[in-house]
Amino acid sequence: MIIAIDGFSSCGKSTIAKALAAILTLPYIDSGAMYRAVTWYFLEHRVDFTDEHAVYDALNHISIKFVREGDQNVLYCNGKALREELRSMEVSNKVSEVSAIPEVRIKMVTLQQQMGSNGAVMDGRDIGTVVFPEADFKFFLVADPTIRARRRFDELKEKRRHLSGRSSGQPQSSRPHRFNP
Ligand code: C5P
Repeated sequence: MIIAIDGFSSCGKSTIAKALAAILTLPYIDSGAMYRAVTWYFLEHRVDFTDEHAVYDALNHISIKFVREGDQNVLYCNGKALREELRSMEVSNKVSEVSAIPEVRIKMVTLQQQMGSNGAVMDGRDIGTVVFPEADFKFFLVADPTIRARRRFDELKEKRRHLSGRSSGQPQSSRPHRFNP
């Protein structure tokens, strides 16, 4: 069984996908984490994203897999477990640019199709349309923008303790923060 979960950012896609995967004992494949891993690798190895050959060459040296460790699905990139690295500001700031590179998308989509071939719960914007258009179930999650902002703010606050917010629950930071819809 393949379940595709799409939707806007900060709507709880991965939270729901993980819970569903646990209940149905299916692998959970976090497609966003895969794009983040490629971004992390490019930054780590100073790959020039604008150089097609450099990108192509780097992609040939990247291996990504998920390993179940307790209740965690840990992403390994070339044998290294990536955890907080994937959520760093550097990676978050560059992941949209990297995931827009056609070679990157081709490689990730192929990998996702292989990983999910025996059934999976996958979340991401193109899972139900490009990766598994024949998925058994497809969901598109939406949420109130205030809730989405709150979720994003809480996530950032976990990492950056200096962030502050109004007691009304509205996100507010001393430094401007880009909210990427
Ligand atoms: O879900 P997450 O925030 O970790 O995804 C990180 C980024 O990876 C997204 O903002 C998007 O740019 C990219 N992405 C993508 N296609 C997917 C999943 C994520 O382009 N299927």
